[in-house]
Amino acid sequence: MAAPAMETHPYDVVVIGAGGAGLRAAIEARDAGATVALVCKSLLGKAHTVMAEGGVAAALGNVASADTWQIHFRDTMVGGKLLNVPRMAQLHAQEAPARVNELERWGAVFDRTRDGRILQRPFGGHSHPRLAHVGDRTGLEMIRTLQDHAVASGIDVYMECTVTHLTTGMGQTTGAFGYWRTTGRPILFPAKAIVLATGGIGKAYEITSNSWEYSGDGQALAYDAGAELIDMEFVQFHPTGMVWPPGVRGLLVTEAVRGEGGILRNSLGERFMWKYLPEDRREEYAATDEEAARWVTALSAGRETDARRPPELSTRDNVARAIYTEVKEGRGTPHGGVFLDISYLPPDHVRRKLPSMYEQFKELADVDITKGPMEVGPTTHYVMGGIRVDPDTGATTVPGLFAAGEVSGGMHGANRLGGNSLSDLLVFGARTGAGAAAHAKAMTDQPHVDPVQVETAKRELAAPFERTGGEDPYTLQRDLQSTMQRLVGIFRIDGDLSDALAELAVLRARWDSVCVDGGRAYNPGWNLVFEVRNLLTISEAITRSARLRTESRGAHSRLDYPELDDAHWGHVNSVVAKGADGAMTIRTGPLPEMPPDLAALLGSH
Ligand SMILES: Cc1cc2nc3c(=O)[nH]c(=O)nc-3n(C[C@H](O)[C@H](O)[C@H](O)COP(=O)(O)OP(=O)(O)OC[C@H]3O[C@@H](n4cnc5c(N)ncnc54)[C@H](O)[C@@H]3O)c2cc1C
Repeated sequence: MAAPAMETHPYDVVVIGAGGAGLRAAIEARDAGATVALVCKSLLGKAHTVMAEGGVAAALGNVASADTWQIHFRDTMVGGKLLNVPRMAQLHAQEAPARVNELERWGAVFDRTRDGRILQRPFGGHSHPRLAHVGDRTGLEMIRTLQDHAVASGIDVYMECTVTHLTTGMGQTTGAFGYWRTTGRPILFPAKAIVLATGGIGKAYEITSNSWEYSGDGQALAYDAGAELIDMEFVQFHPTGMVWPPGVRGLLVTEAVRGEGGILRNSLGERFMWKYLPEDRREEYAATDEEAARWVTALSAGRETDARRPPELSTRDNVARAIYTEVKEGRGTPHGGVFLDISYLPPDHVRRKLPSMYEQFKELADVDITKGPMEVGPTTHYVMGGIRVDPDTGATTVPGLFAAGEVSGGMHGANRLGGNSLSDLLVFGARTGAGAAAHAKAMTDQPHVDPVQVETAKRELAAPFERTGGEDPYTLQRDLQSTMQRLVGIFRIDGDLSDALAELAVLRARWDSVCVDGGRAYNPGWNLVFEVRNLLTISEAITRSARLRTESRGAHSRLDYPELDDAHWGHVNSVVAKGADGAMTIRTGPLPEMPPDLAALLGSH
């Protein structure tokens, strides 16, 4: 079958990914005078950001007047088990309020306090109610607002267009190559600067809250172009996904349910989170059911209170491990989860604060959450690790290549606090757009794209059609997900991780003979071929990093090394890069030094 002719579209800045990070980067780069292409593999408006429910974290101080960026910084660092890049956590906490207010000026309609300010709700690990929100549909409002603003500012949008290769030369990236999903026609974007904003990796696992789009494309493209990936062992398993019916297993049950007062119980009716609170932070949580109930009553009435938060609002890593343990020890629900109950609050209140959850359980599980509990269990949700970036500009270690949003690493350390992703997208999306535009401006000419690299990329696109009797991409993806779920899940052990690496090597060899039928237009099997290639790369990076870190910290729990080991691991990131021979290398690298003024904010944490 002859390949269709290639299109070529040169730009100053090409942003790959149209979620919150990509849209915010595109707006900033355009405002700086760059010509900008925004490329996304699904329809505009369908990125992951649209699924975000609970809210965007920013120390606005609208509900708790005592809240400040300094406390937000401390919470983020403590939640990340101090492995965050301090400068990123600082910029994030300082700039999130301005970015949220800007969103409001651009037309976002947030829920309101009684005196008309942006309402904020509590979330796990945040000392104060901090999440600006729109019911449980915050991402929808955010993406709608950013999208309107971006399109009006004059960027060019290429949707249903997948980038499969980056080209390099002259010591920097020179362009992005891919194809239209609608026709299969190849497309090349020569670019002075490229921003990766492609999101996460959830499709490496069987049970995940993530959609098909999360196949680690940006991480794998950056890795192949020579960039470093840091902290890939830190994959966040969200404590509450649906466990039943089977077709929706893994679908997210927002943390806002617990933020609004949801109580977790096991099959014996025990409120088990009391048992799992970390001793060193015990004083931050209510001492009794009665104090927790006072906190919920005050929250529902929009009042400040001296009651401390309920135990369900511990950090995600801790709650996920607690649920996993309860189920494993035989105190799970009939479908292998635990109960999450918000039905003790007035039905109108639940429906108003959690409209999507109400509909989700009614439609999908025939459960009315105003009348009875939900069944929930852990689900793969977010990756803290990612492409190493410069905090101020989003520059990666490869000149010309930038990254922002979930695809990048460093901001969240060993565990992300809920709500800190949406604010991360806004803060670092804007900074990265500016960084990419400045890089482009400093270049006089469009970089030369090496035609040999383009021909190689075209041949790789065509190859699956030319083979017969090879591997089916769907079988490969299923086998890969099974490996990661079984061997690189919530609890890890060296033997399993070694087995996973062996299985991944076999899968990699099988990928070489992958083949597909049919034509190029709207061919999901063909699309999956390149996503599985990327998933293989990032799964290997996760597994090698998990094997390297012989301690337990945040979302990374080693059964064979159950303790936090600050002496060896408290000040280092894991770093994955492509070696000269093409094999993956793994090493530790020093975490950037914490300046004394920031260290002082942590106190005795
Ligand atoms: C159900 C759910 C609820 C969540 N709730 C919250 C919340 O309340 N608060 C919070 O802070 N966080 C939340 N998160 C996390 C947060 O939504 C994500 O981390 C965030 O939206 C990621 O944004 P992004 O811009 O990095 O990527 P995305 O929004 O996922 O955008 C990625 C973009 O990249 C494109 N893309 C990917 N690969 C390619 C390719 N090869 N070629 C071209 N385009 C490509 C996609 O098409 C898409 O446009 C939630 C996540 C989920 C799944």
